[in-house]
Amino acid sequence: METEASTTSRALATEAVHAGREDLAGLGLHAVPIDLSTTYPSYDSRQEAARIDEFAATGARPQGPPVYARLDNPTTARFETALARLEGAESAVAFASGMAALSAVLLGRASQGLRHVVAVRPLYGCSDHLLTAGLLGTEVTWTDPAGVADAIRPGTGLVMVETPANPTLAEVDIRALAHSCGSVPLLVDSTFATPVLQRPLEHGARIVLHSATKYLGGHGDVLAGVVACDEEFARALRQIRFATGGVLHPLSGYLLLRGLSTLPVRMRAAAGTAAELARRLSADPRIRVVHYPKLGGAMVAFEVHGDPHAVIADVRLITPAVSLGSVDSLIQHPASISHRIVAEGDRRSAGVSEQLLRMSVGLEDVEDLWEDLDRALSGRSARSARTAVRSEGRTADRARDGSAWAPSPAGR
Ligand code: PLP
Repeated sequence: METEASTTSRALATEAVHAGREDLAGLGLHAVPIDLSTTYPSYDSRQEAARIDEFAATGARPQGPPVYARLDNPTTARFETALARLEGAESAVAFASGMAALSAVLLGRASQGLRHVVAVRPLYGCSDHLLTAGLLGTEVTWTDPAGVADAIRPGTGLVMVETPANPTLAEVDIRALAHSCGSVPLLVDSTFATPVLQRPLEHGARIVLHSATKYLGGHGDVLAGVVACDEEFARALRQIRFATGGVLHPLSGYLLLRGLSTLPVRMRAAAGTAAELARRLSADPRIRVVHYPKLGGAMVAFEVHGDPHAVIADVRLITPAVSLGSVDSLIQHPASISHRIVAEGDRRSAGVSEQLLRMSVGLEDVEDLWEDLDRALSGRSARSARTAVRSEGRTADRARDGSAWAPSPAGR
């Protein structure tokens, strides 16, 4: 297999289906093999000792078979190779979840004595919580992009931003922000954009983080995180992953690699539908404001004039669930779910209002999605459900008390 540092002039769509699989034909394979071993036989303990010493000293991926699955796995390594290529990074390191990936980055900086983080809200609720609560011994200064340069001080190890941000889809100029960071590494959580829409390293960011649970996996059946960065930081991350154990299961590595192959097609299709829904919502008097990134993408956020909980209760095709990035559409109320753990005042000041709904647009037909959204916004689903119940019971009701049943006008 080629190394993660391989450079190429191939287009992203080509890389998406070929990166990380270059050795397959030579192995006489077409589909990627899954290596589920937790341990690997070795009859040469001296050589193993040397390999373990080498990893402990450098964090470089061991040559030859892994010693133990917490150290390395060939299937997961294929996904790392592919993702690094798509992000234009030297390396990528995969973790058991997006939060495990962020934890490893924070530990990596803190272990260098750099415990101070400058961060821009909004971030995903649990990322916000991890920083605010200082669970890993870090300290955070929250600011807006214009305040980043002033917030940096000796001991600042990281600047963190999400763009487009969860859940408001606020966008940050990565290049300008990277400039404000000076020598402090800028981490961009690019989960919502994916490398199809945005490659932060090309704009001066030093670390890209994905909740791979979302678009990279793409089918709602893998929990994973990944960090794309230079090989030097990747080595520190591998050592932390080995010591703390937040490894990605190889089956997940396999599913992520498979997910990457359709990522460009999925993103473009879903983004086209999302843009059309955003257009229709913008023209709808039931909607107070629509947030849709200039960058594009498959997320749409909007504030309703009415009760956001009623919309959640009334969708039928769209699934009311947290998370995002799957082939099917999801909707959720950030103030109740994804950002519930953030203090109310911090949520508000970050633009996460009680009226805000966040929709992850999937691959369904736009007219079917609009029909569901339109019905939910009108409250017709719940009313028609109640109508149906009344309809079933009307004969009994009439027999019992003689009252006449009339269909609800809202049922139309
Ligand atoms: N970053 C963003 C932008 C997210 O939306 C999420 C999860 O929703 C995470 C990070 C955390 O990822 P995971 O749930 O895979 O731990």
